[in-house]
Amino acid sequence: MMQGGLRVGEYEIFWLNGGAFALDGGTMFGPVPKIIWSKRYPVDQENYIRLLASPMLIKGPDIRILVESGFGNKLNDKQRKIFRVQRDWDLVAELASHGIQRAEIDAVILTHGDWDHAGGVVMSNPEGVPELTFPNARHLLQASEWEDIRHPNSRSAATYWPINFDTLAASGIISLVDGNATVSSGITLRHTGGHTRGHQALFIESKGERAVHLGDLLPTHVQFNPLWVMAYDNFPLEVISRKQELIKQAMEEKAWFLFYHNPFMNACKFDVNGEIIAEWQPSA
Ligand SMILES: [Zn+2]
Repeated sequence: MMQGGLRVGEYEIFWLNGGAFALDGGTMFGPVPKIIWSKRYPVDQENYIRLLASPMLIKGPDIRILVESGFGNKLNDKQRKIFRVQRDWDLVAELASHGIQRAEIDAVILTHGDWDHAGGVVMSNPEGVPELTFPNARHLLQASEWEDIRHPNSRSAATYWPINFDTLAASGIISLVDGNATVSSGITLRHTGGHTRGHQALFIESKGERAVHLGDLLPTHVQFNPLWVMAYDNFPLEVISRKQELIKQAMEEKAWFLFYHNPFMNACKFDVNGEIIAEWQPSA
């Protein structure tokens, strides 16, 4: 029996396996001293911390939306070693366990183009040929993010990999967003910038209930403090101001915060002091 998902009005949200990996702890906590962050996040002897890539399946009355897409199946041995891959991407099988074929996904939302979020939109088929994982889905990205993906700078070239986007670029199913957009009734996208120039966040409002996915502005609940930015953030001051604004608003609205990288919980609610007052933790 499959456990139900997190209900937000008429939508139901499920977290899927898009891969698990480990990164140097310092990269995820930027300016925060290890002596402080390591009290809140387990770290191994080599200073690595465990993170998930957990795409969200949002099932609505007439729509199936996927938020982020995980690593994909195109990592080579060297990349698997560098990123200390602990669990492989198996999104197609994960969807199948929900009774959904990959061709039945209507929309894919990418908060940004980093490999760990976007790697799953193009998969290597059994013949080893890249193909669209979700051939019938609108792929929603900010136009500014897409521009940077196609023209990376010397830093972003390490994470915007052409192998993840060439097939998508040729497909004509990209739906570029300029600022705000409505994906379906009550589900909206908003440009945030900060982590990357074209980073976007997702907001759900349905029957008086709310949820927000801030993408890599809030990778886990541990980065709740707006000043806890990542070394990976391209525009940290922008991250700080966007977090101050968006977290405050979502807390006041009693919204669920949905997490992509969090190995401890999939979602939570905070009270106005930042204490966790509800957790979503499906049984594995
Ligand atoms: Zn990320």
